[in-house]
Amino acid sequence: MLIINGRIVTFGEANEIVTDGAVRVEGATITDVGKAARLQAAYPDDKVVDAGGQLVMPGNICGHTHFYGAFARGMGIPGEPARDFPEILGKLWWRLDRALLAEDVEYSALVCLVDAIKHGTTTLIDHHASPAALEGSLDQIAEAVSESGLRASLCYEVTDRNGRDEARAGIAENVHFLRAVRGMGNPLLAASFGLHASLTLSDETLARCVAAAQGLNTGFHIHAAEGMSDQEDSLHKSGKRVVERLHDAGILGPQSILVHCVHVDAWEMEILRDTGTWVTHQPRSNMNNAVGAAPVETMLRGGIKVGLGNDGFSNNMWAEWKAAYLLHKLWHGDPRRMNGYDVVKMAVTNNAALARVFWPDAPLGEISPGACADLILVDYHPFTELTAGNLPWHILFGFEASAVTGTMVAGKWLMRERKLLTLDEAAIAARARELSAAAWQRYLALDD
Ligand SMILES: [Zn+2]
Repeated sequence: MLIINGRIVTFGEANEIVTDGAVRVEGATITDVGKAARLQAAYPDDKVVDAGGQLVMPGNICGHTHFYGAFARGMGIPGEPARDFPEILGKLWWRLDRALLAEDVEYSALVCLVDAIKHGTTTLIDHHASPAALEGSLDQIAEAVSESGLRASLCYEVTDRNGRDEARAGIAENVHFLRAVRGMGNPLLAASFGLHASLTLSDETLARCVAAAQGLNTGFHIHAAEGMSDQEDSLHKSGKRVVERLHDAGILGPQSILVHCVHVDAWEMEILRDTGTWVTHQPRSNMNNAVGAAPVETMLRGGIKVGLGNDGFSNNMWAEWKAAYLLHKLWHGDPRRMNGYDVVKMAVTNNAALARVFWPDAPLGEISPGACADLILVDYHPFTELTAGNLPWHILFGFEASAVTGTMVAGKWLMRERKLLTLDEAAIAARARELSAAAWQRYLALDD
C-alpha cells in the first residue's frame, strides 16, 4: 500500500518533514518513505491511498495509563472534598477499583481503546486494578485490545492494601499473563509485572514479586514518589527513600518503569540513571492531585530516560504535551523552562525507546523503512511555515485532538476518515453507561 499526497513527519533519526511525500506499507511494516513521485514510479502496482495533503505521522505512544479508571468520568465523590493525595486515593481510586466487576473491566478498557484510536494513540502501557474481578482480568483486557487492533502492554498492580491473599492473587495474575501472552498469537500484546506503589507494598511482598518474576524476562511497572506520603512511608518502613528501597528490593532495571518520581532527590536520580530504569511523567495527573512537578528537566539532563504517560486522563497525548509544556513554566515562574524539544524528547524519542522494551523487533514512533506501520493522518494545515525544527510548537499550540482522521496499527486501518473500523463506539458507550451506573452504586455502598 502506498499512502501518497501526505506531508510525512518522520521523527526518528532522520527527523524530517517530507512534502509531497509517500509512505509504503507492506504487511505490518513500513518499507519505504520519500517523495511520492519516486515511490509511485518504483511501486506502480501498489494500492494507493490519498492522504489529501494531511500530515502522516507515527502514532502516539502512552507510557503509563489506567484503563480501569474510565468509569470515574463525571463521578461525584461523596462527602468533603479530598484534601490531599492520600485522601484522593482513599475516597476515589481505592473504592472505584473495588467496585469493578468482570464486565466493567472489559468495558472500561473498550471505552479507552475507542478514545485512543480517535486520538491517534496507537501504543498504550496499561496498569490495571480490579480486586473484585482480579483473576483473568488481564486476559479480558487483552481480548478487548485484540478486538481494537491497538498495541498494548498489560500488568496487574500488586498491593498489600486489601490483605495478603489478594497480594498473592495479584502476583499470580501477572505471572499467568506474562506466560500466556506469548501464546495468544497477537504480537501487538505484551506484558509487564505490575506493582501498585511502595507505600502499599511490604518488603515481604516485594521479595515475593521479584522471586515470581524470575525467568519471565520482565521488568516492573510501579508508581514511585508520586506524593510525599510515599517517601514518608518508605522512610518509616525501611529508613530508605523510595527509589533506594525499590532498588535494594531488586525492582529497578532497564525493563522497569517508575511512574511519576515527583519527589526524588539527587541520590535517587543517580540510582535511576545507573540502573537504566524508565521514568514516566504525567503532568495532568500531577496537577490534578496537587502533588508537585517532577524534576523532569534535571532527570533528562542527567541521562535518565523519562517518557510521557497520561495516568488515565484522555488518550489525546497532545493534551499531555501541552500540560507538560505549561506546568513547568508556571511551577518555576520561568518561561524558559520545559523547552518544546524536551517535550518531544519524552513523548516521541523516549516513548519510542520505551516501547522497544515490549516490542523489540522493529522501531515504533518513527516513519522509516523497517519500522512498524503504526501511523496517523492529521488534518492540520498551518497558516505559518511548518518545519521539522518548529514542529513541536505547531503541536503544542496548533494541534487539536479532532485533527486525527486516520489511525493505522501494524499496517491495519483502525480508523479512516474519522470512522472507526474495529470497534462500535455507540454500542460500547451504551453498554458502558449501563455498567458504570451500577458500578457507581456499588462504589457508594462500599465502606472506606
Ligand atoms: Zn498511574
